[in-house]
Amino acid sequence: MSAMSYDIAVIGGGIHGVGTAQAAAAAGYSVAVIEMKGLGSGTSGKSSKLIHGGLRYLETAQLALVKECLRERALLLKNAPGLVSLKKIFLPIYRETVRRPWLIRVGLSMYYALSGFDRDSGFITLPKKEWENLDGINTEGIQAVFQYHEAQTDDVILTNAVMNSAMNLGAALFMPATFIGAVFENCGWTVRFEKNGTISEMRASFLVNAGGPWANMVLRKVVPAERDVAVDLVQGSHILLKGKIERGIYYVEAPQDRRGVFVMPWQGNTLVGTTETVFNGNPSTSAPLESEIRYLLYAAGRYFPRFRSAGPEDVLDSFAGLRVLPSAGGNPFSRSRETLLYSEDLIRTRLISIFGGKLTSYRATGESVIRKIAPHLPSAIAKADTRKLPLK
Ligand SMILES: Cc1cc2nc3c(=O)[nH]c(=O)nc-3n(C[C@H](O)[C@H](O)[C@H](O)COP(=O)(O)OP(=O)(O)OC[C@H]3O[C@@H](n4cnc5c(N)ncnc54)[C@H](O)[C@@H]3O)c2cc1C
Repeated sequence: MSAMSYDIAVIGGGIHGVGTAQAAAAAGYSVAVIEMKGLGSGTSGKSSKLIHGGLRYLETAQLALVKECLRERALLLKNAPGLVSLKKIFLPIYRETVRRPWLIRVGLSMYYALSGFDRDSGFITLPKKEWENLDGINTEGIQAVFQYHEAQTDDVILTNAVMNSAMNLGAALFMPATFIGAVFENCGWTVRFEKNGTISEMRASFLVNAGGPWANMVLRKVVPAERDVAVDLVQGSHILLKGKIERGIYYVEAPQDRRGVFVMPWQGNTLVGTTETVFNGNPSTSAPLESEIRYLLYAAGRYFPRFRSAGPEDVLDSFAGLRVLPSAGGNPFSRSRETLLYSEDLIRTRLISIFGGKLTSYRATGESVIRKIAPHLPSAIAKADTRKLPLK
């Protein structure tokens, strides 16, 4: 094979693109990633930075997702101890909290069971005398506080670490390089991309579309044409407020609509998120709305009196990411967060697109993509097992 010919070309250097590259390289395939801006510059760098099972997905009975995420969390804690660390999560239940203590108890017990009774997934109820030590949380009307654990990471650093791991196994990265089109001809893809003002081509047996919220735009650039996948883009914003919280992460209900919102320690300040706003338009223009900033400020102030007088001028930073959710109508908060691997005709077109998913489960997603592709590629000799690869 010449230098510009690969078994697999991956469009997009978000967590799913680099996770696919790592799984491909570990399985012994040659793979190249084309990323237009920076690793983790899309959704993957705009997440809540949690490596978590997703307690709230139990409400919508997404048990397989929770189980997979808990398993992946345990693997990341083992393989990336410098990048992923366990944090206490506090769940305060107030008089007006919709999710009652019995429900939380059932949810956390299921969570523990789904983790295989992993010691990092148990929970306790905090004795009343400890409520005063919860970063100045408003204790008026509190009926109970549950404590369990999740892990936190720096999503951009994690994305870079996974790509480094893939590159150590031989993967190539083209960046900044914009995918501009691909044609399926002579039993493979001719992939065109622009880098530093020059248009280049590579050949690839398989194309993986890991374009995140841009995935349908990527699909529109392939020949033969593939239909758009029916998804909605739902914007989630975060704000960074001045001031430290130290005990852990707080998971509270936004007073406006009772959605779960995280209040988290982040780089010496406090990160609050997220919102859910249906987004129409080019994903590159996604940015926090004034109404989202006010929503998050109000939620933070309701639970932490020290933020009560904070206004938009006190927001140190804010960012927005786009969730890719199956278009099903209804409330985005309750829609499936499972990853969709879409292929119109895998054998004929040799193209697979990744929609949705979680930062936490990127490794499992990458492995699933390679499991689907592998039967259609010449056999390869595996170089590594992604479950055991350290990330630094
Ligand atoms: C607000 C929010 C909070 C979240 N919080 C969490 C969390 O705490 N924990 C968790 O597990 N999950 C979380 N998620 C989910 C998780 O962040 C996403 O599922 C994941 O990051 C998606 O990664 P991706 O690689 O599919 O997409 P992206 O990260 O968006 O990557 C797509 C990449 O494709 C590139 N690209 C697009 N078009 C082209 C082109 N033509 N040429 C070259 N490159 C191109 C883009 O530049 C981009 O880097 C959250 C999601 C959101 C929106």
